Amino acid sequence: MRRIEALQHINELTAELPLVVTCAATSRELASVENRDNHFYVLDAMGLVGSITTGLALAARDSALPKVVGLEGDGSLLMNPNVLPTGGFIAPEKLFIILLDNQVYGSTASIPTYADRVDLGSLAGAAGWTVGLADDEASLRSEYARLLTTAGPTFLHVKIEVGNAADIPKLLVDPVTLTNRFQAWFTARLEQGAEVPE
Ligand SMILES: [Mg+2]
Repeated sequence: MRRIEALQHINELTAELPLVVTCAATSRELASVENRDNHFYVLDAMGLVGSITTGLALAARDSALPKVVGLEGDGSLLMNPNVLPTGGFIAPEKLFIILLDNQVYGSTASIPTYADRVDLGSLAGAAGWTVGLADDEASLRSEYARLLTTAGPTFLHVKIEVGNAADIPKLLVDPVTLTNRFQAWFTARLEQGAEVPE
């Protein structure tokens, strides 16, 4: 499964949920699929998706949102793996991380990460997260559905191919604009509640 194929499913599945997205190729490719108000692209802040998602999940504790979703890469998660023990220890009910794992730094010439020898799903499980594994589009959708309705920190480990989609434009949007857009959407969603997509 290519990254952009996984992103097409994730975009559809998270249409009504906050989605915090890691930088570079993942943000660019998701924005090329669809650029929506519920997408918070964490541009140039590699490693902070888990931290931001944890905070937002705590903020959404009393809302009707089923989960707050963070979309990470293996290189980015390895930059700040502390999010795993922190999430496991605090255990926000609505914390959900999806890891797109191709075992390389996809935006810097596919230099290998540690993920070919360090199993990030096992690391999350050891820290107390409920973990699912997906290696194709069907298992991505079925494990997503299972973890969306599992209370406590959940972690969907998605194996993807090395390589980036061709001809994707750079995401040259002011981060302040992105933040304001997402903040307005999230605040309204907390007040309105949210329906769980099918
Ligand atoms: Mg990677």
